[in-house]
Amino acid sequence: MLLEGKKGVIIGVANKRSLAWGIANAAARHGARLAFSYQGERLKENVEELSATVKDPLIFPLDVTKDDQIASMGDLLKREFGTVDFLIHAVAFAKREELDGKFVDTSREGYLLAQDVSSYSLTAVSRAVAPLMEGREGSIVTLSYLGGERVVSNYNVMGVAKAALEMSVRYLAADLGPQGIRVNAISAGPVKTLAAAGIHGFSKILETYRNYAPLRRNVTQEDVGDTGLFLISSLSRGITGEVIHVDAGFHVLGFVPPV
Ligand code: NAP
Repeated sequence: MLLEGKKGVIIGVANKRSLAWGIANAAARHGARLAFSYQGERLKENVEELSATVKDPLIFPLDVTKDDQIASMGDLLKREFGTVDFLIHAVAFAKREELDGKFVDTSREGYLLAQDVSSYSLTAVSRAVAPLMEGREGSIVTLSYLGGERVVSNYNVMGVAKAALEMSVRYLAADLGPQGIRVNAISAGPVKTLAAAGIHGFSKILETYRNYAPLRRNVTQEDVGDTGLFLISSLSRGITGEVIHVDAGFHVLGFVPPV
């Protein structure tokens, strides 16, 4: 029981395939009490159903582009939890038309939207939750992808948002480290989720990983969940500002045939 007596916030559960749900499951298995956000009424029922399978959950609405909702999240957590030990940030969004074709065609609006939801939101929610982690050795974990380091067909504007997200991890780690708060990212290999379905040619990406990754397989929600558990537990107490690849080793490869 690595998280006995700990309390955490999970942002980004859409359904049972969500990577956030993989981490939530691992955390719940290890004794953590969890608060789940949902974005809009459309996902409320899903999150209610899933969270009902863990002990004593807290559920609240949150659109990460809305500062008033982020402030309400902070108030609610202070009232209900008092303190927070970990925060999982697993949200990203880009317009479907920006995840196809050429990056050079990215619109200003599409660029700013992807940055706002997928990158800036980490800083905004970290700022809201950090005061509740005071004296708790807090851990903040976000989700990234290789498309933030290298050019991946059709990932386009989301790749640039992930690059900004990974750099935010380093700046946040430097800012919050003196308070004992660690900030890390998991760079996950492709997993079939709702968000992934928006990327043109996603099945081909899965196939390429299966064929060429050193472990010759795709990663699973559980692979990501267990690394998330490691990062929010004291097992990783000396690690901050890191981006850990959970991608069956794909990132070490040089040339692979274009997807
Ligand atoms: P997912 O299940 O669709 O989760 C994405 C979540 O982000 C959804 O709950 C979505 O809600 C939420 N979201 C989008 N805009 C939001 C907003 N403005 N406010 C609050 N929540 C918002 O997909 P996932 O694959 O697990 O994605 C989680 C994270 O993992 C993302 O950062 C993604 O880039 C990253 N990642 C995924 C993969 C992969 O292959 N699946 C690989 C590497 C990294 P709505 O459904 O309402 O939009």
